Amino acid sequence: MAEKLALLGGRKTIGRVPADLFRWPVVNKEMEKAVLNVLRAGKMSGSDITMEFEKAFAAWHGRRYGLGANNGTAALHCAMFGLGIGRGDEVICPSITYWASCLPVFSLGGTVVFADIDPETLCLDPDDLEHRITDRTKAVIVVHYCGRPAEMKKIMAISRKKGVAVIEDVSHAHGALYQGKLVGTFGQVAGFSLMSGKSFAVGEAGILLTDDRLIYERAVAFGYYERSDQLTLPELKAAAGLPWGGYKYRMHQMSSAVGLVQLKKYPEEMAEIDRAMNYFWDLLEGTPGIRSQRPPKNSGSTMGGWYNPLGLYRPEELDGLSVTRFCQALQAEGFPARPGCNKALHLHPLFRTVDVYRDGCPTRLAFSRRDLREKLGSLPVAEGIQKRVFSIPWFKKFYPEVIERYAAAVKKVVANYHLLLKDDPGDPKDGGNWGLTFRI
Ligand SMILES: *Cc1c(COP(=O)(O)O)cnc(C)c1O
Repeated sequence: MAEKLALLGGRKTIGRVPADLFRWPVVNKEMEKAVLNVLRAGKMSGSDITMEFEKAFAAWHGRRYGLGANNGTAALHCAMFGLGIGRGDEVICPSITYWASCLPVFSLGGTVVFADIDPETLCLDPDDLEHRITDRTKAVIVVHYCGRPAEMKKIMAISRKKGVAVIEDVSHAHGALYQGKLVGTFGQVAGFSLMSGKSFAVGEAGILLTDDRLIYERAVAFGYYERSDQLTLPELKAAAGLPWGGYKYRMHQMSSAVGLVQLKKYPEEMAEIDRAMNYFWDLLEGTPGIRSQRPPKNSGSTMGGWYNPLGLYRPEELDGLSVTRFCQALQAEGFPARPGCNKALHLHPLFRTVDVYRDGCPTRLAFSRRDLREKLGSLPVAEGIQKRVFSIPWFKKFYPEVIERYAAAVKKVVANYHLLLKDDPGDPKDGGNWGLTFRI
C-alpha cells in the first residue's frame, strides 16, 4: 500500500519549494530602467512608446495593426465596436470565460448568446455553435481558455459559411500555437489582456490586433481621440476629434515600456513554463481520474504560457469521489488545488434579470426580438464543469525534482482515493469564481 495520506495523518509530500517556482510577474532590471526612463522624461501620457510596442507586438503575430489599450477589457470593447456591433446585434460567446469576453457588448446595445464548451478543451464547442447563429449574429467570440487553443479550424469554417466575424480573446494564451499558427491570427480581430497576472505580464494593459484597416480605424475613433490624425476613412474623419464611444482607452506608457522588454524575455519564459508543465503532465500520464487540458502531442498546438492551468477531473474513474474531497486531500499534501474554474456566465443575474440601462426590461433583452436567455440545462457541459476541473500549480521554473514531488502528491491521492470516499462532502456547493481568483 502506498504511503499514508497527509489528510489522514500521514506525511505531507511537498515541503518548502524554491521561491521563484511561482514568482510572478518577473520584473527585471531592464524593465525598471525602461519605466524610470518614461518617468524621468515625463512621458506617462504620451503615445510614442506605446506605438513602438504596438508595432513590435503586431509584428510578432504578423498582423498589420496593433492598438494598445489601458486593459484587455477595453481592447475587446474596441474590437466589438471595430466590427460594427451595435443595437440588437448578437455575439456568441462560450459561457465559461472571464466576463470581459462578452460583457462590454451591452454598452453597444448588443447582446450575448451563450454557447457550450467542449469538455476536453474547455473552449467553445464548435458543434454547439452553428445552431445558435441567427440573422442577427454579428460575431463569435472565441476564448483560448487557460492556454488551450480553441478548435479554430472548425470555428473558422462555420464563421465563413455563415458570414459572421470572429473575435479572438487571447487573454489566456499569449504565444500559444494552433496547428503551428499563433492564436490571435485566425479571426478578423483579437483582443489580449496584458495585466500582470497573465502569462504575458506588463501591468494593467491590453492590445487589439487586426489586419483590417476599417476595424483598426473604428477602434481608434471609439476610444482614442488623441489619434484622430490617424483616421483616413471619410465617414470617421468627418467626425474626428472626439471619441465616438465617449471612452478614453490609451495605454499607459510605463506599461508600454515594460511590454517592450517583456517581448524580449517572453519566448524564454514561455519555453521554460511549457517544459515544466509538460513534464508535470508527462509524469501523470495514465493516472486514473485526471487528464491534462493540453492538446495532443505532435498536433502543432501548444499551451503558450499555460495561464491559470487546470486539470480535468473524472470522478467516474474514482468511484464518484468528489472534486471537493480530491482537492482537500491534495491541499493536505501541500499541493494547491482548488475545485472549479470561471462560473457559467449565462447563470448570473446580470445576464438574466438586471436592467442596467433602465430599458424597462433585462439589458440582455433590451434590443432583441426574442428571449434568448438560456434555459437551465441547455448548456450541460458549462453548467456541470465545476465538478470536473481543478486548478493546478502554475510552474514558472523547470525544477524537475520539485515538480516530481507535485506529481507524486497527485499519484498518492489517486492511489488512496477509496479511503477518501467515507467523509466525502460531495460536489462543491458554489464552485468556481466570477473572475477574481487568488493565485499562488
Ligand atoms: C483577464 C481577461 C480579460 C480582461 O482583461 P483585463 O486586462 O483584466 O481588462 C478578458 N478576457 C479574459 C478571458 C481574461 O481572462
